[in-house]
Amino acid sequence: MTAIPAEVIARLKTAVGTRGFIEDPAEIAPYVVEWRGLYRGNSPLVVRPTSTAEVAAVMAICQETGTRLVPQGGNTSLVGGSVPFEANDEIVISLSRMNRIRSIDPMDDTLTAEAGCVLAQVQEAAAGVDRLFALRIASEGSCQIGGNLSTNAGGTNVLRYGNARDQVLGLEVVLPDGRIWDGLRALRKDNTGYDLKQLFIGAEGTLGIITAAVLKLHPRPASVETAFVAVPDPHAALKLLDLAKRRSGGQVTACELMPRLGLDYVLRHTPGTRDPFAERHPWMVLLEFASGDGGGALRTALEATLEDGLTDGIVLDAVVADTMEQAKALWFLRESMSEAQKPEGGSIKCDIAVPISRTPDFIDRASRAVEAICDGVRIIAFGHLGDGNIHFNPSQPVGMDKQAFLDRWEEITGVIHAITHELGGSISAEHGLGRLKRDEITHYKPAVEIDLMRTLKRTLDPGNVLNPGKVVAAQTAR
Ligand SMILES: Cc1cc2nc3c(=O)[nH]c(=O)nc-3n(C[C@H](O)[C@H](O)[C@H](O)COP(=O)(O)OP(=O)(O)OC[C@H]3O[C@@H](n4cnc5c(N)ncnc54)[C@H](O)[C@@H]3O)c2cc1C
Repeated sequence: MTAIPAEVIARLKTAVGTRGFIEDPAEIAPYVVEWRGLYRGNSPLVVRPTSTAEVAAVMAICQETGTRLVPQGGNTSLVGGSVPFEANDEIVISLSRMNRIRSIDPMDDTLTAEAGCVLAQVQEAAAGVDRLFALRIASEGSCQIGGNLSTNAGGTNVLRYGNARDQVLGLEVVLPDGRIWDGLRALRKDNTGYDLKQLFIGAEGTLGIITAAVLKLHPRPASVETAFVAVPDPHAALKLLDLAKRRSGGQVTACELMPRLGLDYVLRHTPGTRDPFAERHPWMVLLEFASGDGGGALRTALEATLEDGLTDGIVLDAVVADTMEQAKALWFLRESMSEAQKPEGGSIKCDIAVPISRTPDFIDRASRAVEAICDGVRIIAFGHLGDGNIHFNPSQPVGMDKQAFLDRWEEITGVIHAITHELGGSISAEHGLGRLKRDEITHYKPAVEIDLMRTLKRTLDPGNVLNPGKVVAAQTAR
């Protein structure tokens, strides 16, 4: 049973045409479950518009009738923002059929994509005109540009190119009242008042529905060098990052940290992987340099970094990729680290950021604190060292009941987030707040900031129909 009247459902179906909706519960099922299975919601209807006009028509009906709706892209986000609540009183609006690249302009270094374009599709389109679209994340085969912008996705290229937020010049957005804001400008400079596009980026679908974006492109690097480096600990990894930045003259594009246990999980559960080293090392760093110079200077800089690192005792061993295939195999180890935790049982996920220099202290302190309250817990701390962003994922002790471990989620994340806050950090570096961290964030952000967020939400969506209950609580129940 749904609280949404049949006549409203009928109007929504008409707005998107016969091929633009799903109402069979079996077909709806994948749209209401979050990637990790942490949230399982309900919905009587999924609409799949093919144009901005159809999105606006759906939005206008929802606003007029007080019908709640949840925007969805690839449904790969990890905080429960993309799926409806359990009450069966929200519809899902999937952008996946709005998947056209509207234009590419290599002279302007821009690409205009509809929200439902899969990230990999955008990367390929850019490569097709010899350009780089710089966003790179492990879910790029399924996540969509609209979702990437709505979560302000990060990933492994942030160190050099910035977050999703930094890759955007203009947006087209359907507002909660059904109006279309055409902000698809391709300008590098535009100081004509508030930068409204930034309001919708990272808003997780609570302020408007992104339907298209003008994205920035970059020159494709002529050379890329990749090394898998064994280091004694995260403190040495940080020193290696500093050395790499200096030695390469700022050409470091990625610096990813991986613990021994994380690599063991990958080797155990991911077919086709192997340890690049003969010896078992405690920590690893995936280091990547890229530049427009194809003449070999980059390789020289990488080798000099590693040699200096060996001399200083911050590098234990290193493997440098000689071919693209070898580089891909090294990246595959890093990219498999999230998935490889699943077969090991319950895993508690924290996606935190601290100032880069505090990252090793954070890992030391948080590991000790969690080990002190949970005997036998296995800490997997990995990720974007170059951005001070660590995915800190305690894995359940061997033999413990999975649910009993997951029941301690709040207690364990509370300890980790308190340390993050003490170190001047953020409890959500790149995944957002969604439903998972909506209330917890109020302990860490100044009350004024939360109040400003609420004011924005109320101003743009006074009826609280667009993705209610996510990011910031309105003053109503959701
Ligand atoms: C294996 C794996 C690895 C990952 N690695 C990373 C990583 O390295 N870095 C990172 O940042 N994230 C990572 N993620 C998380 C996730 O892929 C990103 O958050 C991604 O940007 C979500 O895109 P999506 O299309 O799947 O969005 P969805 O999950 O569908 O939606 C995300 C949020 O945006 C809203 N939304 C979606 N589309 C729109 C739209 N058009 N307009 C308005 N609101 C919209 C939804 O309501 C929801 O709140 C990873 C996920 C997985 C499964």
